[in-house]
Amino acid sequence: MLGSANADLVVAVPRRPAGGETVLGGDTVVLPGGKGANTAVAAARLGAEVAFVGAVGSDQYGELLRGSLSSSGVRTDFVRTSSRPTGLAYITVTPDGENAIVVAPGANSDVGVSDVEAVRWDDVSVLVCSLEVPVPTVAHAVEVAASRGVRPVLNLSPVVEVPAETLALLDPLIVNEHEAASLAPSFEGLPALGPKSAVVTLGSRGAAVVTPSGVVEVDAPVVSVVDTTGAGDAFAGALAVGLSSGWSLEESARFAVRVAALSVTSAGAQPSYPTLERVREDRK
Ligand code: ADP
Repeated sequence: MLGSANADLVVAVPRRPAGGETVLGGDTVVLPGGKGANTAVAAARLGAEVAFVGAVGSDQYGELLRGSLSSSGVRTDFVRTSSRPTGLAYITVTPDGENAIVVAPGANSDVGVSDVEAVRWDDVSVLVCSLEVPVPTVAHAVEVAASRGVRPVLNLSPVVEVPAETLALLDPLIVNEHEAASLAPSFEGLPALGPKSAVVTLGSRGAAVVTPSGVVEVDAPVVSVVDTTGAGDAFAGALAVGLSSGWSLEESARFAVRVAALSVTSAGAQPSYPTLERVREDRK
């Protein structure tokens, strides 16, 4: 996995302060996050061998993030300590449940081509990237992966401009429904952007798998929703586990939809990701 690692600093507030105003909040809760780290943790929980490629600062949050990755079984030998501070997300939550978030990318902005060059690719079958790190780094990683016979997957979240040569190598491009709408008029239009395949996540409606031979919709199980934070990252991690097990894209998407549905039934992003045992139990 290549992408971002952030510490989420979450504070409950009675209301959001206006400019120049101070509002007192509750106690700060610090949670490990960032799309890249979330995806890596989701895949590792499912029993896959996972390494995370990224950067954190030499501060307490960097230690926290390294710890959360390792305790989930993610290898951190390609996590560099940057001179920039660890990426932080400042999240205020109002009583209506709405979040307002400021992200300070810090060390994530510093993940570069040399970090990709440091990767040892032996036994790697799938590379998943997400985009809270610089686009040239992701483009380079996708190109190197493809040249080594590693299957490149990109979660294009947030949507940014990506070189056509990069898009052409993806198998699949993953986007959510809103991201898909900003890229193409219909799901059928996504292959025209260049990827070999695409998967669109559809929240409670599951996902759509788009290949040159058409669109296949995969339904999500009906669950009682507690917290959808990080559901898309759980989906991407689980999809990669399926693909690395040699399953077809459709089979992998069916698995990912079940994993992501389980992740929305408990609080938080990383703490909500199920183990393989949990997924199997759920199936019984
Ligand atoms: P994102 O969180 O990136 O916006 P989605 O909202 O599409 O992405 O959610 C990603 C995946 O999480 C979906 O494809 C689905 O598998 C699962 N999911 C999300 N919300 C629900 C829900 N309410 N019920 C069941 N599964 C859900």
